[in-house]
Amino acid sequence: MLRLPRFGIVTPTRVEDAVAALATPGARVVAGGTDLLPNLKHRLDAPPVLVSLARLPLGHVTRDGASIVIGAGVTLAALAEHPLIAAEMPSLARAAGLVASPILRNLGTLGGNLCLDTRCRYVNQTEGWREALGRCLKSGGDRCHVVPGGQTCVAALSSDCAPVLVSLDAEVVLHGPAGRRVVPLEALYRADGVAHLTRAPDELLVEVRVPVAPGPRLAAYVKWTVRKSIDFPLISVALRFDLDAEGVDGRIVGASIVAGALASTPRRVRKTEALHGLRLADPATADAVARLAGAQLKPLDNVPYDAVYRRRMIPVHVRRAVAALAAGAS
Ligand SMILES: Cc1cc2nc3c(=O)[nH]c(=O)nc-3n(C[C@H](O)[C@H](O)[C@H](O)COP(=O)(O)OP(=O)(O)OC[C@H]3O[C@@H](n4cnc5c(N)ncnc54)[C@H](O)[C@@H]3O)c2cc1C
Ligand code: SF4
Repeated sequence: MLRLPRFGIVTPTRVEDAVAALATPGARVVAGGTDLLPNLKHRLDAPPVLVSLARLPLGHVTRDGASIVIGAGVTLAALAEHPLIAAEMPSLARAAGLVASPILRNLGTLGGNLCLDTRCRYVNQTEGWREALGRCLKSGGDRCHVVPGGQTCVAALSSDCAPVLVSLDAEVVLHGPAGRRVVPLEALYRADGVAHLTRAPDELLVEVRVPVAPGPRLAAYVKWTVRKSIDFPLISVALRFDLDAEGVDGRIVGASIVAGALASTPRRVRKTEALHGLRLADPATADAVARLAGAQLKPLDNVPYDAVYRRRMIPVHVRRAVAALAAGAS
């Protein structure tokens, strides 16, 4: 049986007090604990104190002008079922509803999902397993087992909500000792699996702000796993198509394709302008989107499934998702 290490815990009721408690060296935030606690059991970290968000007022979902504002403490279950999210950003509702299992979605929060630690088949193991193989960059060693000779950890960000929210141009509000600052969600991540968040250790992610679509839009989230439940994504692609006034029968005027589970940051597919002017309802459009994604999204052996298979399957799943969107099935 894996046991938790010893730690203290504080449960502030004000954001300012939570931020002050994070000044303790090594202190960590705990929200639902569904990522943090398993990692502590695996001895991936040993914080002296946890700062719980359980009593902070971060459970709101509201409309603020042209944005939807979602508190970091909103659970994934609530997000998946919220009528405003379902109406305005169905790909986010879908991604939240696909995380893990009902029990984990009842506990897990949006803030925790976006601040999820990176994962790797060589590190998310017991301490003995890691020792037997030899420590890597993320576990205190000097090598990478995924990219031999590599100097930067490429562990995967396996959050289901992160690629979707990046595809929707979301921003996050961080609250630190100097007050609040707003950054694009994309800028929260850096390409280093050891320290993949740009938030300071004493900053809390308190809110996510997502702009509402200014016109007709269709969006989808592709997640493929071996099991249909309690599995992190092995293929993860968020799709967003802004359409002209004709809607689903019209032409694409903006497109965003963002993949998760590849590297330590969500990966944006470039040159989507090539899709502008295409009709979503035209079967050739699904092929064009699949080709673009397949050419740029290159899985590594960092998650526990064959990278070559995952690479080949990305265009297959993307093509199906675009076809389903065009048919009104998603
Ligand atoms: C068996 C299993 C299967 C899973 N499957 C999936 C899956 O399919 N998809 C998926 O996306 N996730 C999955 N997860 C991971 C996890 O359950 C979810 O990502 C969940 O949303 C994490 O939220 P939490 O509130 O429990 O985070 P916590 O565990 O409390 O925290 C996660 C990390 O975020 C930090 N953190 C939390 N909140 C904040 C905040 N507001 N500001 C700053 N830092 C913060 C914590 O310090 C910690 O480092 C799985 C977990 C398990 C155990
Ligand atoms: S990507 Fe390399 S350095 Fe990072 S956790 Fe995996 S094996 Fe370790």
